[in-house]
Amino acid sequence: MELTRLTGFQDLIGQPARTLAYVEERARALMERYAVGEIRIPLLERIELYQRSTGETSDIVSKQMYTFTDRDEAGTTLALRPEGTPGVVRAYVEAGLDRSDPEQRLFYSGPMFRRERPQKGRYRQFHQFGVEVFGRADPACDAELLVMIDDLRRDLGLSFQFEINSLGDAKCRPAFRAALLDYGRAHYAELCDDCHERLERNPLRMLDCKIDVKLAAAAPKSLDFLCPECRQHFDTVVALLSSAGVEFIINPRIVRGLDYYMRTAFEVTSTNLGSQNAVVAGGRYDGLVEVLGGSDIPGIGFAIGMERMALALEAAQKPREGLVRVALIALGEPAARRATQLARELRGLPMQVELLSTERSLKSQLKRADRIGANYAVIIGADELARDAAQLRDLGASAQREVRLTDLAAELYPARCD
Ligand code: ATP
Ligand code: MG
Repeated sequence: MELTRLTGFQDLIGQPARTLAYVEERARALMERYAVGEIRIPLLERIELYQRSTGETSDIVSKQMYTFTDRDEAGTTLALRPEGTPGVVRAYVEAGLDRSDPEQRLFYSGPMFRRERPQKGRYRQFHQFGVEVFGRADPACDAELLVMIDDLRRDLGLSFQFEINSLGDAKCRPAFRAALLDYGRAHYAELCDDCHERLERNPLRMLDCKIDVKLAAAAPKSLDFLCPECRQHFDTVVALLSSAGVEFIINPRIVRGLDYYMRTAFEVTSTNLGSQNAVVAGGRYDGLVEVLGGSDIPGIGFAIGMERMALALEAAQKPREGLVRVALIALGEPAARRATQLARELRGLPMQVELLSTERSLKSQLKRADRIGANYAVIIGADELARDAAQLRDLGASAQREVRLTDLAAELYPARCD
């Protein structure tokens, strides 16, 4: 048996791991400014949580979950989380927040697991960064979440396309569903196999079909069926987005094919990606807290696909914010002692400092400095040490000069970095 990693799972070593961490850092910094607190929830839950919320008819629950039977007497069936929302809602209800303190703004970040066909931007373990807001039914909240995503986009220097839609609510959706059902039955012969199944179980999902694109485009639109309250809600979201300067299009094919989703649904794609370009998806789920045993509290949220965000960043080749990189080269024991001290000082600025092996030759250390992409090499030999100085070599410009150790920090910081 070869001990290789599983299909659809990834090892990220060095730069790719750094890019993913960078996206997360920026998203976390944004949460601070939007007053969104963190929630950490388990990776394993009972399978029933997803059956009841994500839904038996969804692709996720019907085909993509990793499940296993636990060793307990009851033989509980567990599932690796395929998405974050059900766990967050369960935790919210379990903590009694729906009764004690219903208005909550929470974010989560971590791995999700879905057994789907792997390809670029689609993995079996991937990461989502998601936001959920509870206790807010007003359209300003829907708009605020979209503005939040636009702020992250701007911060990362990416360009996104926002697509929004309204699915209506329990009052107006039945008529829309019925119209879709009629439409699907009338075009039955043209539908793909998956849509034959979707038609009876969850006709909204036909709109999401990647195969029957033409049929979906001509299908009835939920926006034409909205009741006055849903219409008003949608119009307000649209007006708020316009006044906040978020560019978007209205796409009647955006659906979240689960029963508890209602009103606002949205998807965000990156124009920096080819296929698998959906980077964020979200929507309003006012019925979900109740479905999972809580009070009737509205909710809305979104999830960012972190790997796709990182790929978009790489495709856009945006220079990342980074520290100046210094290779510190000491020749001889006394110089090494001074260099250890110096490295600590420089790192505190902050600056990225790698103290190279003092057991290697100057030539070999300079090679290493190149290899790690250092901006500067700081070389301290016995002569320099005697003068309390160092050779400062700008590796980009291949220029070298002597500087006093006391001036080194000022010479290097702030300095160029890429
Ligand atoms: P898709 O239509 O691409 O399958 P989805 O509707 O299944 O997406 P959601 O469940 O709404 O996606 O998840 C939100 C985001 O998470 C997606 O927009 C995408 O960026 C990311 N995502 C979903 N599945 C994967 C995966 N298997 N690998 C990497 N990222 C994913
Ligand atoms: Mg999917």
